[in-house]
Amino acid sequence: MKSKKLIIGNWKMYPVSIKDAKTRFVDIKKLASTLRNVQTVICPPFVHVSDLQKLVTGHRCTIGAQNAWIENDGAYTGEVSPLMLSSLKLTHVIVGHSERRAIGESDELVNKKVLAGIKAGITVVLCVGEKVRDQDGDYMKFISGQIRLALHGVQKKDLAKVVIAYEPVWAIGKHALRPASTDDALEVSILIKKTLSDLYGKEGMVVPILYGGSVDAKNAWEFLMKSQVDGLLVGRASLDPKIFGEILMSAEKIK
Ligand code: PEP
Repeated sequence: MKSKKLIIGNWKMYPVSIKDAKTRFVDIKKLASTLRNVQTVICPPFVHVSDLQKLVTGHRCTIGAQNAWIENDGAYTGEVSPLMLSSLKLTHVIVGHSERRAIGESDELVNKKVLAGIKAGITVVLCVGEKVRDQDGDYMKFISGQIRLALHGVQKKDLAKVVIAYEPVWAIGKHALRPASTDDALEVSILIKKTLSDLYGKEGMVVPILYGGSVDAKNAWEFLMKSQVDGLLVGRASLDPKIFGEILMSAEKIK
């Protein structure tokens, strides 16, 4: 798995209509299903998940979810369980995205979501990243702390079901302060590897590391080449099949 690039599209709360979602997904799948070196995962809003899942053919382009709850069933109004997602054969679930942390998701809750996702047999895409970069490098301790808390109780045998996405909050979305540089991403990719190695030894190296934050067709190749990452988590640009297709092609060219 680690030799293939993993490119995940986070569609956030777009598009509104299922017709539109299907058109975009079919368009993306047309290219993605031809790529040997890339695993593509599209994470649409929950209401579109089931319809899009029916359009999946093969393993190269699959559907994931943007969130899941910590229990498999129960009195949790408005929540969706990881078992429901794995029953639909979704491959991945994003956990701890900064937009969810911003509305109150704590490290403790993120940890429970990581454990619940793994238990349900779904690959968890754990998002970590600092809000600001300070001069003293405290953001490094912050990120490593987020990883340690989120992976508490995760065993070595579970690591095949874990992906870590470095998403600096200041580089995400249309209000991004500035795009991260490939050096910014490289520094944290090395930190993540060091943290995984401290926690799990060399077995920690099976965990793919992604970069996310204002990735587009112009910078995707550079992040993949220069930042020691195994893939990308793409927000806005994943909604445009043409731009996302260019990102997928950049990943395909890297052996
Ligand atoms: C995201 O929301 O995960 C993200 C990376 O967004 P964008 O690519 O739009 O910055």
